[in-house]
Parts: sequence; C-alpha cells; structure tokens
Amino acid sequence: MNKNLTFDIIVVGSGVGGATFTDYLTRINPDLKIAMLESGPYRTKEQFNQREIDMTALYFNRGAVLSKNLQLGVAAGNTLGGSSAMYTGVSFRPPKNVLENWRNNHGLNFLTDVYVTKSLDEIEKDISVHELPKSWDNQNNQLFQTGAEKLGIPVKRLKINTKNCQQQGFCNLGCTTGAKQGALEVQIPRVLERGVKIFCNTKVISVEENKVHVIVKDAPEGTKPNSFSSGTYQFHAKKIILAAGVLNTPTILLRSANQLRLKNKNIGRYLTLHPAFNINGIHTKIVSNYRGFPKTVYSDYFSETDHFYLETSFYFPGVTAKNNSGYGNMHQEIMKNYDKMMSILILAHDKAEYHNKVTIDKKGKTVVDYTISNASKNALIKALKEATKIFFAAGCEKVLLPATSKNPLLKSDSNVLDELISEKNLNLYKTPLSSAHPQGGSRMGDNQTISVCDIHGKVYGTKSIYVCDASLFPTSVQVNPYETIMLLAKWIAENLKV
Ligand SMILES: Cc1cc2nc3c(=O)[nH]c(=O)nc-3n(C[C@H](O)[C@H](O)[C@H](O)COP(=O)(O)OP(=O)(O)OC[C@H]3O[C@@H](n4cnc5c(N)ncnc54)[C@H](O)[C@@H]3O)c2cc1C
Repeated sequence: MNKNLTFDIIVVGSGVGGATFTDYLTRINPDLKIAMLESGPYRTKEQFNQREIDMTALYFNRGAVLSKNLQLGVAAGNTLGGSSAMYTGVSFRPPKNVLENWRNNHGLNFLTDVYVTKSLDEIEKDISVHELPKSWDNQNNQLFQTGAEKLGIPVKRLKINTKNCQQQGFCNLGCTTGAKQGALEVQIPRVLERGVKIFCNTKVISVEENKVHVIVKDAPEGTKPNSFSSGTYQFHAKKIILAAGVLNTPTILLRSANQLRLKNKNIGRYLTLHPAFNINGIHTKIVSNYRGFPKTVYSDYFSETDHFYLETSFYFPGVTAKNNSGYGNMHQEIMKNYDKMMSILILAHDKAEYHNKVTIDKKGKTVVDYTISNASKNALIKALKEATKIFFAAGCEKVLLPATSKNPLLKSDSNVLDELISEKNLNLYKTPLSSAHPQGGSRMGDNQTISVCDIHGKVYGTKSIYVCDASLFPTSVQVNPYETIMLLAKWIAENLKV
C-alpha cells in the first residue's frame, strides 16, 4: 500500500469530540475527503461480551492510567468510539456559572445563552437525552433517595442518552444492544455512510503542518481486521483535527513541538480530573445494585458551597474490590457482601491549575502529573461524611471508607463522623481515587498566554492543526462532560474554513 495518503481533513481519534466534529462537518460540506485515524481497534456491540476481565481491553492500560505520584488512576477508552463506547450516558448541560467564566475570562463569547440552548436542544434530540422513569430505579437508586430525603438533602433525576435500553447495567463494559447513543451508534455509522474512511489500530505519533505520522499495528484477535498492512505511514491533509482525548491530544502536540516550532508553555497544562471516590455501604438486606440501569438520581445540593456532586453508581466485582481498601481475609469478607452493597460516586470540582499537566516521558509516552489540591481534599472529606450519613439513613449497617481511622464504620459511629473521617486519615497512596472525566491540557481561549488553542480550536502558532475534544476545556465544567464536548465540536465544525 502507498505509504502516503492524502485527504482534505484528518481527524485523529473517534471519540465523541472527533466523531461529532466529523458528523457536523460532513453535514455542512459533504464533498470533503475525510479520514479518521483511531489508535484502538474496530469493535462494535457484537464484540462486547459483558465480561469484566475481557472488556477492560476497551480502555487504555486496562482501565487505569496511573498518575505519576500513584495517587489516582484515569480511565479513558482506546477503541472505536473512544470513551463513549463505555461511558454511562449521563447527560448534563454545562452549568451557567462555568459558561460565564469561560466567556468572561477565556473569551469564549460564542457560548451565548441563545447559541448554547439552541445547540444543546438539537444535540439532546439527536442523541436521545431523556429522564428515566421512576419505575426504572433499582434498589440502590431507591435507597439513595430514601437516605437523602430523611436528611433533607434534595435529590434530582439524571438525564441519560439511550434508546430502547434493556436495563442490563453493563454500560461501562460496552453496550451489547447498542442502546447507549454514543459515537459508535450515532455519529460513526453516519459518517461512514457519508464516505469518511476510518483507519483503526492507527496510532498518530506526531504531526507537522498538513502532515500526520502514524504507526499501524495488526488488529487484535476478535476485532475487525485492518484493510492494509501494519507499518509506518504518512497522511497529508489541508487541516488536521486532534481529537485524541485529554491523555493524548496534548502529548501528540508535545511530541510534535520541535517540528511545529511550538513554544507554548501551556500545552498539557491546567489538567483537571474531576477526582472521584466510589464508596460502598453494606445494607442489612439484599440491594442487588447489579440489576437495572446503574444511575438515575444525583444531588448537586453541595455543589456551590462544598464543591462536589453525589451520584448513584454501580461497579462490577473487580472494580468494586479495588474500590474497597484492605487485603486478604478481611477484604474477602467485605466482598462477600457484594449483593448487599449500596454505592455512591463522589465527584469533586477541581480547579484548573498550571502545575497539573499531561506530559511525556523520554520515550514520548503519556505521563499524568497531577497533585490533588487541599481544596479538593476538603471537598472529598466533606463528601465522604455526607455520603456516609446517606448510607446509614438508608439502612446500611456498615460503611466502607477510604479516609477513616476505623474501617468499616458502624451506625453507632454516626455522632463521631467528624473525628473518624478526616484529612489526616486520607492516605492517597492507599485509596482508590479515580477519574473518568479528564479535561483541559489544550485550553481554548482568546489569550495565548494562558491557552493553547484559539476560539475556533486552532492551535496557536500553527496554520493547519486544530483540537476538538475535552482537552479544550479552559477549566473543569464541574459536571459529566459529554454534552459540553459535543457543543464545542459542533462549534469548531461550523467555523472551520477549508
Ligand atoms: C467509564 C466511563 C464512564 C463515563 N461516564 C460518563 C457519563 O455518564 N457522562 C459523561 O458526560 N461523561 C462520562 N464519561 C466521560 C466521557 O465519556 C468522556 O469525557 C468523553 O467521552 C471524552 O471524549 P473525547 O472525544 O474528548 O475523548 P475520547 O473519548 O477519549 O476519545 C479519544 C480517542 O482518540 C483515540 N486516540 C488516543 N490517542 C491516539 C493516537 N495517538 N492516535 C490515534 N487515536 C488516538 C482514543 O483511542 C480514543 O478513541 C465517562 C468516561 C468513562 C471512562
């Protein structure tokens, strides 16, 4: 095969950023010759088997790219459709105060109320965003509401983007029925029909103006074989859109910095991770959290004052074992209660700080260099206390926590939670802190001294290189980021001059 291929546009990455961009661009300009390069394999719903051990292959590093200081693991997809292949489908609009900050302090003035509302109305219709009926609440979701209501904590219903969902609950291992309306089901089939060429197992190493260097590997067993042989190739295009996600778009730019003569010190910086704990209470009765749709309710009651959200959650046995600290027999005893576990996800709103970054090691591999701030620690501690109260109010007899002097906590400990749950007991090397919502690293903004891309997504100092994924976010959006990524991708596609 010719080692040099030429297109009008090259999109790097098939996650929701790249796929939404391509969907909109092909609607606006159907005659463009477009290639999408994806480092992961070509898997569709037929290849998902609901087995945790097998399906961790959908993720980079089997599900956790560890931070350099080993305090936290980041989950991101490395498969066709990117993280949208295994995301849960929770759909939030960006909060008004976040958009106001992005307009006032980063020059994203295009995000007017009118543009945002019109765009998200259209997007939500397209990907079937809706509230799930109360009759779908499994016992975990019901208990969360019972506990929160007893404490006077308001609970809201989540919006989800699914169609004909069979409530199997395996969203995070890939949806076997295609109900989840991620890129695999919505945008990718469309752009294929419009003639876009998708090259899987094709890893972009670096870019130059109008040129992309890639390595193609053989397709893993059980996935769709490549249509061409493995090796190194060059792709040429008028415009190159980097949509390789937060862990990889900034690192492609860093690996390309010499060729592109990029001196921008902000590349990879201002990384935010929306750090999360998933915690469990052990109920007196069977909870069967593994039945039904995993999450239908949440609380943003503490968002403005204490900077965190509480969402209901469900995880498979392997991840649940990781999420509960301890070893040996004691840990085995805990896991014997799997069918009685109630589960809550705590998400802390972290600040965008210059020192937190995605960078590269000597071999050019991604390094997540992130230190959790004192403010985020405070948010997590407060969240652990509030979640513990909800567990007990819902009828749990024990609560398993990562930051206590005593584990598990018993209901009789309820009046000394302030003593037992505290920062001094938060040993980040022993706790399973994680992130599934990385953001930033290629910040968008009108001020080059604090950004990487201009307000049309073009990388400052380049003529043909753009970014279109969650790495554009100037700060944390503070909610699950999917809709906001789509919003920015739509804007970039609408404004690209080819
Ligand atoms: C388990 C899980 C659950 C989640 N649940 C929710 C939820 O309910 N709601 C919500 O809003 N968000 C959720 N998220 C987050 C959300 O899925 C992501 O924020 C979003 O999908 C990111 O989209 P993206 O396009 O920025 O990047 P990605 O989806 O990460 O896409 C990047 C793509 O680029 C490819 N790539 C990387 N490097 C290269 C390279 N060098 N060359 C070629 N290709 C490359 C990757 O394989 C990937 O396919 C969840 C995430 C996870 C992991």
